[in-house]
Amino acid sequence: MLIIGSHVSYKNENQLAGCVMETLEYGANAFMFYTGAPQNVLRTPIDDFKTIKALEMMKENNILLENVICHAPYIINLANNSDMEKYQFAMRFLRQEIERCMTLGVRYLVLHPGSATKLDREYAISNIIKALNNVLIPEDNIVILLETMAGKGSECGINLEEIATIIDNVRLKDKVGVCLDTCHLNDSGIDIKEFDAYLEAFDKRIGLKKIGCVHVNDSKNGIASHKDRHENIGYGTIGFENLLNVIYHPLLENVPKILETPYVDREYPPYKFEIQMIKEKKFNPHLYADIIEYYKNK
Ligand code: FE
Ligand code: FE
Ligand code: ZN
Repeated sequence: MLIIGSHVSYKNENQLAGCVMETLEYGANAFMFYTGAPQNVLRTPIDDFKTIKALEMMKENNILLENVICHAPYIINLANNSDMEKYQFAMRFLRQEIERCMTLGVRYLVLHPGSATKLDREYAISNIIKALNNVLIPEDNIVILLETMAGKGSECGINLEEIATIIDNVRLKDKVGVCLDTCHLNDSGIDIKEFDAYLEAFDKRIGLKKIGCVHVNDSKNGIASHKDRHENIGYGTIGFENLLNVIYHPLLENVPKILETPYVDREYPPYKFEIQMIKEKKFNPHLYADIIEYYKNK
């Protein structure tokens, strides 16, 4: 069965239960959330009562906990240790994020590997490895999914080799995996038209069973543009058919597909309508108009 969902917002009012309600609105059976604003590290304590409510709603609606993904805030940078205090803060925050996930029962945590900034890339990657080895402990019931990055600025994790090097050197290997992002892959230089070839190379170097999540996004920019600007499904340079091919790929059947496409007019979430297109396998040329009409009349 297709496992599809989107990024949803986690607000303190209902916490995880709010995420589930939003997911149901979109007709999805998976979701991804940040435990607070993605840009900052302000976090509120988890209310177990809200978590229990979320788990009940999930059970009633066949949303499996294994298809729920948490995304760490993108300001955590494990690659740069030129400011030791910041580096240590990033590790401490990641540790807390792991604890939060485990309190919620969430098994997957997506992480941007980090940015090298002025450091040598190889050294930056060794910092990521050191940080992960520092943070992860054998008792953790979590898999950190390293996201494939577009190569904007000095991002690390922009090709198979960099991701593989991190995984190769993390001691607790069962606690690291990969999150593919189609927009990032495209922008980093992978042709999604040739996705089978990419998967084959991935399988050889890392192993397909390491893929724990796929972010399905179209891209505003061309192959190898190193930009990282997401576009709505079928409206970018990757295109509807190529994205469908990823979403319905038989080798990724059990992997949750998560949309992180932009809101329409910065206001209206596109996910309900994009998920509908994906389920029907039919491109909607009136996507924006349909979304605006729906939310204006709501
Ligand atoms: Fe991400
Ligand atoms: Fe992503
Ligand atoms: Zn992105």
